[in-house]
Amino acid sequence: MTFWFIRGLRRGVVTTRYPARPDRAARYLPTPPAFRPEALTRQAADELAAICPSGALHRDGSVLVYDVGACTACGRCAAEAPGAVTASGQFELATTDRSVLIKKIPIRGEAP
Ligand code: SF4
Repeated sequence: MTFWFIRGLRRGVVTTRYPARPDRAARYLPTPPAFRPEALTRQAADELAAICPSGALHRDGSVLVYDVGACTACGRCAAEAPGAVTASGQFELATTDRSVLIKKIPIRGEAP
C-alpha cells in the first residue's frame, strides 16, 4: 500500500492525461451516431425510431429529431442503416443548455 501511495505521488495520475492530451483509447469508445440526410427516407427514419431503445429518435414530418442527451451510443441505428448512419466519433458533448442536444436532421432521401 505504501509503495503504491509513494509511486502515485511521484508519478501523478498515470492512467490518462485527458483532456490536457488526447486519450489514446478515445478511438475505441462507442460514440453517438451521425446521420446523412440525403440517405434518410421517412420510412428509414421511422424504422430507426422504432429500434432505438432509449427513445432518442422520432420523426416529425420531414425531419428526424435526434436527442443526443438520450442516446446511449448503442449502435443499433448504425447497424440498421449503415448507409445513412455512422458513428460520429464525437464524445465531448457536455453542455449546460439542454436544447443544444436536440438535433433536427432533414430527411432528404427519396423513397425507393
Ligand atoms: S445509438 Fe442507440 S440510443 Fe443512440 S440513437 Fe442510435 S439506436 Fe438510439
